[in-house]
Amino acid sequence: MMDDKAIFTRHLAPTSLQPVLLNIDSAEGVYVFDKDGKKYIDLIAGIGVAAVGHCHPLVLEAIEAQLHKHAHVMVYGEYIQQPVNELAKTLTDLLPHPLETAYFVNSGTEANEAALKLAKRATGRANFVSFYKSYHGNTHGSLSVSGNEAKKIAFRPLLPGVKFIPFNDITALEVIDNKTAAVIMEPIQGDAGVIIPSQDFMVALRKRCTDMGCMLIFDEVQTGMGRTGKMFAFEHFGIVPDIITLAKGLGGGLPIGAFVASYEHMQLLAANPMLGHITTFGGNPVCCASALATTHVISSKGVLDQVDSKGALFEQLLKHRKIKEIRRKGLMLAIELEDEEQVNRAIQLALAKGIIIYWFLSTRSSFRISPPLTITTNEIKTSCKTLLQVLNEC
Ligand code: PMP
Repeated sequence: MMDDKAIFTRHLAPTSLQPVLLNIDSAEGVYVFDKDGKKYIDLIAGIGVAAVGHCHPLVLEAIEAQLHKHAHVMVYGEYIQQPVNELAKTLTDLLPHPLETAYFVNSGTEANEAALKLAKRATGRANFVSFYKSYHGNTHGSLSVSGNEAKKIAFRPLLPGVKFIPFNDITALEVIDNKTAAVIMEPIQGDAGVIIPSQDFMVALRKRCTDMGCMLIFDEVQTGMGRTGKMFAFEHFGIVPDIITLAKGLGGGLPIGAFVASYEHMQLLAANPMLGHITTFGGNPVCCASALATTHVISSKGVLDQVDSKGALFEQLLKHRKIKEIRRKGLMLAIELEDEEQVNRAIQLALAKGIIIYWFLSTRSSFRISPPLTITTNEIKTSCKTLLQVLNEC
């Protein structure tokens, strides 16, 4: 008989040579339990997905109620389904003008693919500008506008006409011209290790896009839904994108993505060609019910308004000579250590001591902390105490 590990390694395709191989039994709140009954504090929340913790009772209730009504009945865009309607209204009410019309998809990368297509359709142009070290997903379009060359080289040719610029270099904005369909940007870079652009740069970027008649797409797949202490990270900068993409924390654990733009722009997807973007599963009503309950929990008192002070508590408690720098916005933290080996040791040691932290995709000298937004101050204190022991030993 094959055991769980043998089945996993033989019958599931790998993504790395050394998977973590935690054998999951269940998860609740900020805790994950393995098959041996060992309890872990989950400081990454499935990379920012379990924004309101695992198995939040209100999210579970919403999922169950919807499951008993109906799951999939039709492809996206044909039937009126209550949780889908309600989520669209709730989400767009949280967003400023002109972000009024939502389209639900299945993942972050799909939201970005669709945003790029919408920008091409709206401007009649085909070029894109993006940022070094950015991450926008793993399908061909999103990969084309992602800024980590090491992850792209094996899959070329990708989309032509994509240029990359650094954060905070206002003169580099000149590459945005009258052939640019859109600039795509994480308003705070996640997998580059929590890189925060300057206010001046963001204002100049918005102005350049408007002047050149191109669209500004903010990929808030990681930063959205309260992660940075505001519902959306662009609120920190006082500028509004033309398209925002969301996923991860939106679904409260179920798979859903979204792109939101103006009513006028979104109409373009319905004609010339008709069905300009389609998806079978996008807007699945069970996922939308879960997202709706999750959005309500994030917006409720004591969640979003405490994200920044909880993040600050991590920063305050994590004082250690081996920590070179902490980059943080809300509950999105990068803890910079000496080098990759030290990060590897810290992640392994933390796991052994019952704390889940994790790597970033595009920086090897930091580890990530992005816990459920509902983590309590006591849970933060307990985690930090253990993390300081980990740092002593790593
Ligand atoms: N954009 C950003 C900023 C992300 O962090 C991610 C996921 N790490 C994606 C897009 C891709 O999302 P998904 O894995 O759901 O396709």
